[in-house]
Amino acid sequence: MITLRKPKVVILGAGYGGLMTTVRLQKMIGVNEADIVLVNKNDYHYETTWLHEASAGTLHHDRVRYDIRDVIDRSKVEFVEDTALEINREEKKVILEKGEISYDYLVVALGGEPETFGIKGLKEYAFGIVNVNSSRQLREHIEYQFATYNMEEEKKDERLAIVVGGAGFTGIEFLGELTNRIPELCHEYDVDFHKVKIICVEAAPTVLPGFDPELVQYAVSQLERKGVEFLIGTAIKECTPNGILVAKGDEEPREIKAGTVVWAAGVRGNSIIEKSGFEAMRGRVKVEKNLRAPGHDDIFIIGDSSLFINEEINRPYPPTAQIAMQQGELCARNLAALIREKKELEEFKPDIKGTVCSLGEDDAIGVVYGKKLTGTKASFMKKVIDNRSLFMIGGVPLVMKKGKFKFF
Ligand code: FAD
Repeated sequence: MITLRKPKVVILGAGYGGLMTTVRLQKMIGVNEADIVLVNKNDYHYETTWLHEASAGTLHHDRVRYDIRDVIDRSKVEFVEDTALEINREEKKVILEKGEISYDYLVVALGGEPETFGIKGLKEYAFGIVNVNSSRQLREHIEYQFATYNMEEEKKDERLAIVVGGAGFTGIEFLGELTNRIPELCHEYDVDFHKVKIICVEAAPTVLPGFDPELVQYAVSQLERKGVEFLIGTAIKECTPNGILVAKGDEEPREIKAGTVVWAAGVRGNSIIEKSGFEAMRGRVKVEKNLRAPGHDDIFIIGDSSLFINEEINRPYPPTAQIAMQQGELCARNLAALIREKKELEEFKPDIKGTVCSLGEDDAIGVVYGKKLTGTKASFMKKVIDNRSLFMIGGVPLVMKKGKFKFF
């Protein structure tokens, strides 16, 4: 009797891309068709796009995460809680912290890491908005600075200075939450609001590069009104234990003293990509149209560790949850085709429905289906988008458990 071995699909990372691939694939194939293994370093998924809220303290960090086992079909998917260290492409196996796992087909969906562009001191002294733990650490650090301020005999005003490096999506969304949280912190810790400084430093000539200029102007004026000082066209040269050194052009660097520095500019691929010998640009692999790594019929790379070119402008699509989820859907269909020994794979065609950047709980800017939105309308759309991503992974039960319903 001949027993055919089922192909083994290993999915690394249970973020937007990896979890989407898993929940779609588990619906498409039968138990007897393939073994599916999902590997993630924690037993929970977190909504990366909500981390700025947990970091500022406007949303509890438990609200941004949920148990992976609640959304996978455990009769079809084996979940392994472990950290991937390296991919051995020749031997078709992944080295994990607690062992190793072999694969027939591999999906790398490990997300990104902060890109510090070699700026001295950032890795050591700046906080990042990267995962649940880094967000909790940042929130607690800011609260500690406020709590300590009044306890010290000699007042150190720099404790109340917060620098945000980067005026891209993450930086601006964090500033929106932070400016809502600061008045609460001042009240909780008996701190004079006028002593608090929030400075955003951006090397590019504009806030939110690539966004509609009218909407950018709206965002800047709303945040300035709430106390943010923007230093645009200004580069962070160094981060120190006491703050940052900044300079415009060839100017001599000057010091800004700050108790908190947050680095929110730039994403690179997961370090495993380069460690495993893939050819990459800033840790991101330029994938083929069917999302496979060039030269590898058995490896798909999706989400922030991949690079997919927008042929209309000959530049990569920015790394977003929207793209990662759409790639996850296609990746599942292509895996099902391979499992069923079909030769033809589908090509990825991003369907960008719009972009909304929040400016706090009740304000935002965005372009949705070509229409410009600001204020509560944009903020409403942001919550619809947040709930939609929950729905796509876990259906109505997940939306009821974790969804955002305070619309106005
Ligand atoms: P992720 O969703 O980051 O998931 C990666 C997963 O891999 C995680 O579960 C992680 O724990 C796991 N992992 C990592 N390393 C290992 C390892 N070695 N071993 C095992 N597991 C590992 N995009 C939008 O489209 N809209 C937005 O409004 C938006 N807002 C954002 C706001 C903030 C504050 C941030 C930080 C990002 C925002 N983004 C937004 C970008 C978006 O979050 C990312 O593009 C998206 O999360 C990428 O999805 P991914 O599947 O590649 O990785």
